[in-house]
Amino acid sequence: MFLSQREREKKRGEKMKRFQGKVAIVTASTQGIGFGIAQRLGLEGASVVISSRKQKNVDEAVEKLRTQGIEVIGVVCHVSNPQQRKNLIDKTVQKYGHIDVVVSNAAANPSVDNILDTQESVLDKLWDINVKTSILLLQSASPYLHKGSSVVFISSIGAYQPQASMGMYGVTKTALLGLTKALATEMAPNTRVNCVAPGFVPTHFADFITRNEDVRKSIEERTLLKRLGTTEDMAAATAFLASDDASYITGETVVVAGGIPSRL
Ligand code: NAP
Repeated sequence: MFLSQREREKKRGEKMKRFQGKVAIVTASTQGIGFGIAQRLGLEGASVVISSRKQKNVDEAVEKLRTQGIEVIGVVCHVSNPQQRKNLIDKTVQKYGHIDVVVSNAAANPSVDNILDTQESVLDKLWDINVKTSILLLQSASPYLHKGSSVVFISSIGAYQPQASMGMYGVTKTALLGLTKALATEMAPNTRVNCVAPGFVPTHFADFITRNEDVRKSIEERTLLKRLGTTEDMAAATAFLASDDASYITGETVVVAGGIPSRL
């Protein structure tokens, strides 16, 4: 019997309810990988707090998730805006009382310049959005994280081998691997901290790479599984790490890149 994508997601969610009674914040979650993660956690029973910069995108994403029976609220939050970050945590705690899962997914890639040609303002923006705001968000969230809670950072396969033209972006993603280790130590034993390093997923973010058919084919060839990743692939790995199925895993990064080489 043929099942649509949504029916498959719904069936999977019905089977596994690992987040029943749990509250999950996912940043940058009105489309792409973040939306996929919010959807997966929600279908598995989480109350989900989604967010991004634009109210319209937040409203549309909330609507899509509610039609799937997911308990969700949406909050506008540009991760670089301190007031909006505070509001994201405040609204979550007002509505649900506590936080079990934080998925830090926001990133920017504002330049294709070589690192040595990158303007200081761009270097600042990359550090700010891709690394610093993840730390600041967790500083605000940590008083509400209790025993058994979990943090997942979204890094990139580029963390292991920064790509030409995305060099500094890759370096910020490398920093998240270190941040995962450092915070896993700092937040243990109550909170586990892990990371997902996606390969190439044809989202808006990666459009400048994956829309070119020749480039897309060459990436598919570089994978062992001969395809690009999907938002569902990334959501599945994130949900595993955030769930009690991973209750003895902390400080680790899972590469979800179809076998593109990362490290031994
Ligand atoms: P995407 O499809 O372009 O989605 C980006 C989402 O982030 C949107 O909901 C957008 O909504 C929101 N957003 C953008 N800037 C934001 C900000 N400053 N603050 C809050 N929200 C913001 O991107 P994606 O491909 O899913 O990427 C998600 C994560 O995966 C990123 O960390 C990226 O580095 C990582 N990643 C992606 C790939 C890939 O191939 N796609 C590979 C490796 C790693 P608004 O416009 O409303 O803000």
